[in-house]
Amino acid sequence: MTPQFPFPSGPPGLFVTGTDTGVGKTVLSALLCLAFEADYFKPYQTGAEADDDTAEVARLAGLPPSRLHPPTCRLKAPLSPLQAARLETSTPSVALDIRSVQLPETARPLIVEGAGGALVPIAPGQDMADLMIHLGLPVVIAALSGLGTLNHTLLTVEALRNRGITVAGVALLGPPDTENKHDIEVLGRVRVILELPQLEPLTPESLQEAATFLAGPLAAALRAGAPLAADSPADALPTEGLPDGAFLADAPLTAEAITALDARHVWHPFTQAATAPPAIAITRGRGEMLFAADGRQYVDLVSSWWVNPHGHAHPRVAQAVAAQAHTLEQVLFAEFTHQPAALLAKKLCDALPDGLDRVFYTDNGSTAVEVALKMAHQYWRNQGQPARTRFAAFKGGYHGDTVGAMSVGMSSGFYAGFENLVFQVDFLDYPATWHGDANVQAKEDAALAGIAAHLRTHAATLAGVLIEPLVQGASGMNMVSPRFLAGLAALTAETGTLLLLDEVMTGFGRTGSMFACQQAGVRPDIICLAKGLTGGFLPMAATVASEAVYQGFLGQGFDRALAHGHSFTANPLGCAAALASLELFAEERTLERIAALEAVHAERLPLLASRFGPSGAGILARPRWRGVIGAVDVVSAESGYEAAIGKKLKQYFMDRGLFIRPLGNVFYLMPPYCLPTQTLHQAYDTLEAALRTGL
Ligand SMILES: *Cc1c(COP(=O)(O)O)cnc(C)c1O
Repeated sequence: MTPQFPFPSGPPGLFVTGTDTGVGKTVLSALLCLAFEADYFKPYQTGAEADDDTAEVARLAGLPPSRLHPPTCRLKAPLSPLQAARLETSTPSVALDIRSVQLPETARPLIVEGAGGALVPIAPGQDMADLMIHLGLPVVIAALSGLGTLNHTLLTVEALRNRGITVAGVALLGPPDTENKHDIEVLGRVRVILELPQLEPLTPESLQEAATFLAGPLAAALRAGAPLAADSPADALPTEGLPDGAFLADAPLTAEAITALDARHVWHPFTQAATAPPAIAITRGRGEMLFAADGRQYVDLVSSWWVNPHGHAHPRVAQAVAAQAHTLEQVLFAEFTHQPAALLAKKLCDALPDGLDRVFYTDNGSTAVEVALKMAHQYWRNQGQPARTRFAAFKGGYHGDTVGAMSVGMSSGFYAGFENLVFQVDFLDYPATWHGDANVQAKEDAALAGIAAHLRTHAATLAGVLIEPLVQGASGMNMVSPRFLAGLAALTAETGTLLLLDEVMTGFGRTGSMFACQQAGVRPDIICLAKGLTGGFLPMAATVASEAVYQGFLGQGFDRALAHGHSFTANPLGCAAALASLELFAEERTLERIAALEAVHAERLPLLASRFGPSGAGILARPRWRGVIGAVDVVSAESGYEAAIGKKLKQYFMDRGLFIRPLGNVFYLMPPYCLPTQTLHQAYDTLEAALRTGL
């Protein structure tokens, strides 16, 4: 009797890789096919067809053709796919791309055999480990049992784990070696699921005999370290320590298990837990895609709350973080410095408008704003002008959720009930505009006149003016022209107050230029950066000041110094991520990609608005875009953060694998820059379809 495949409701198969070529992957694959009555699939088949691995498995395991799935890509030379393809000028690179590999439909479990080892190149920028991630199967590593196996096996385990791949176990082929088995298990934190001596002779009969004998123990060994089954009862959840199957440190929990733990112990941001649906467990991200534990996939059309520039889990940034984590994870930043922080400070100053030369690191957008406010406040005290303590900010502006940031964002409507906690701020008119707005100039001039009057009247008591340049994010993607921003900068210069820019959202390419202020030729005194800074990997922020502001804090006494600092100031991991992310802007010609996405907004939004605008069905208004940000108001009886229309649209998109998060009745898209333009078109097609159904 054949024992059941060990994961009845888990992954549909196993991926077999090796520590090297020629260690016996194919024999192991044939054995696994026999032990679990599985089908065989080798996506990349190199070598002559008559004696390739698929033919070998057919011969060894005696499998009928119906259980052998044809390779996705066949190459003649017995080399790595990338190298073999170079010899065949006729092979188009799309044929090599791992995304063209799909698991075949079959009722049986699948044994998928790789080619060569884990880091063998397949296509430019893609290797065998990427294929394992793409297919999502746990991996069995074939290794020789004897001398040299420790190093080769541990290297492979480490390489796979560093990419987040589940290692289901190691199979040792050759004469059993107890020492090696023990050391691999202990040092690699991985189970040796099989020791298979050389079969003499190696025939279908001898292999079948071994498979029958080994199938039971193999299944048990795999199950012991396996993911919890999807149908595990809730009380089988780990409450303390590690789950039953914890022999593998990386055994993933099921969607249900994660959601149950979350529902019991986690408190989510901006969420009414009593009425919200359960949080969706995400296991993996790649590019613009998010992969959920329950198998669903979503296109991330909001860059994960606006933090992600280049797409999820970009390997370049991931590698930089991993290398830094193995080198220096953290050191206190009073008294000490380190290369990533010093180099990043220089690169930020190089990328920013001239004159912004001093970088103060913090942890997130809110603290970046707190620091900007404290800097401006103390700057004037240090200058002998202690009366300059007030701030002006804009109606609708959002600057974060800590108390100082709430104070300057009080008019955004997010903080009802906290009025007695915050300090007083002057709120200036914000002349929001859109495509086809005939009054833009008159509106902006009127606002500037009001601001001029305010700044001139209160010059003696104002410390600074704070604005989200060009686009107000959280209050609904409200936009102004660069001309307005330049006008504001002229007024702050004229009245001698400090100009503080909150580029937490707009920074790092969002609006089409590296920083929004560059489109207006504006040079602020202080700028706040966060969100996109680390490539979407780690929470880190920077408040960058002009040299003049910095000089204002120098002196002999500590009383002139900025008495502010966070435990994780200038965290080396965050700095390393930020450095890698900045390099990607040049390497991937990111600003060109942003321009291509902006062109899609510019093409689709006016059309949609005219089709569903005042002269059409009467439901879309104020189309607007800048950089990768495209937005339009969906007019309905309600407005505000809780508007029902936004929730309906979101559900409609989610059902189609597209993740959006409207701000009340404002529909917006803010994709990561790697999003293919046709996917952005698809998002607009979906909006159009949703509106046609008349939500
Ligand atoms: C998100 C945001 C903040 C706050 O940043 P956090 O990292 O969430 O604290 C501040 N300002 C602007 C403009 C933002 O969009």
